[in-house]
Amino acid sequence: MLKAFAYRIYPTKPQLKDLEEHLNRTRELYNAALQERRDAYKKTGGSVTAFEQMRSLVEVKEGRPEYRRIHAHVLQGVITQLDRAFQGFFRRVKAGEKAGYPRFKSKDRWNSFHFKQVWDNSRDNWFGPGKPVGSNRIRLPNIGDVRIKWHRPLVGRPKTLTIKRDGEHWYAVYVCEVEPTPLPPAGGEVGIDLGTSPNFLVTSNGGLVPAPKYYRVTERKLRRQQRVVSRRKRGSSGRKKAVAALKRLHRKVRNQRKDFHHKTARKLLEANDVVYHENLSVKAMSRSRLSKSILDMGWGQFLNILYGKAAEAGRRVVGVNPAYTSQICSGCGHVQKVPIGKPYECGACGLVIHRDVNAALNILRMGQGLPLGESDEVAHARRPQKPPALAVG
Ligand SMILES: [Zn+2]
Repeated sequence: MLKAFAYRIYPTKPQLKDLEEHLNRTRELYNAALQERRDAYKKTGGSVTAFEQMRSLVEVKEGRPEYRRIHAHVLQGVITQLDRAFQGFFRRVKAGEKAGYPRFKSKDRWNSFHFKQVWDNSRDNWFGPGKPVGSNRIRLPNIGDVRIKWHRPLVGRPKTLTIKRDGEHWYAVYVCEVEPTPLPPAGGEVGIDLGTSPNFLVTSNGGLVPAPKYYRVTERKLRRQQRVVSRRKRGSSGRKKAVAALKRLHRKVRNQRKDFHHKTARKLLEANDVVYHENLSVKAMSRSRLSKSILDMGWGQFLNILYGKAAEAGRRVVGVNPAYTSQICSGCGHVQKVPIGKPYECGACGLVIHRDVNAALNILRMGQGLPLGESDEVAHARRPQKPPALAVG
């Protein structure tokens, strides 16, 4: 399985210039290759293939010597990236979905370039780009030996390397082939109810994971900074500074959220062999009035992380059909509407239970294929109890 490892890198001033040059040239190449495909289609209705475009890289280098200072794999990667954009476009057209034609990339939408091979499989050794040099540098062709902070070990066999800019920070992201490391059996299964304010998630055994407060705080700062930006005059140096500060805050929120998702997923998988969740259509949910907080929480990202970690740990994550999970009584199977903000009080059997724990129990049973309202947890859930908070972080 593949796993990404991201490390902050600290280029010197001349290296920074070269990194930026790489971004400028690759962006220019992407836009030119896109233009070529558009023109070919307009003039002849025909198409230009990725293979043809890769071949013409030779001419590009002849006509524009600055391109010779960029590794061939990086340039080929740009063509591949464009080709993927077109494949995605054609697939969506074919499927009758809304399909945006691949677009030209502006400066703020182009923040990375890629080395497609960093490991030589035949020699079982580093191929070149991204090779560690000494204890705290990596070798980047045409850029130099760039300082890196190995804040955690690089595990597995590295395949590709992406150099990424995020505001004024730069990162090296290695994608590695890693062996799964199974966790010892936990002897339990759990259902989780996602997207129920004010909690990030609620488990079928009564655990509540509150939505993290700390990024709410950062978010408030974010809104304030947004206003500062809009007050500054376009093109002024004050505005540039304000935009940089805004980007820093965005990065902070993103990192905090990701960190929280990782920790939450790890706790769930350590304690359970199988995690059942509702198949959420994030798109559908974000259209609802919960829109804001749902987009903030990034359910899609959380589930991706959960699935990725499960594969690595030999655990299972299973999606179930979310129909009526909040309306069914987990004690007896009775179906009723529940007012928002109130506990579930069953009109048939008298069960009183936290409404989201009730839903999580239903999700667990659906996942296990048990009839609703007829398992061991019923008696347990019937006992009035204060759900323990599941500490995260
Ligand atoms: Zn009931």
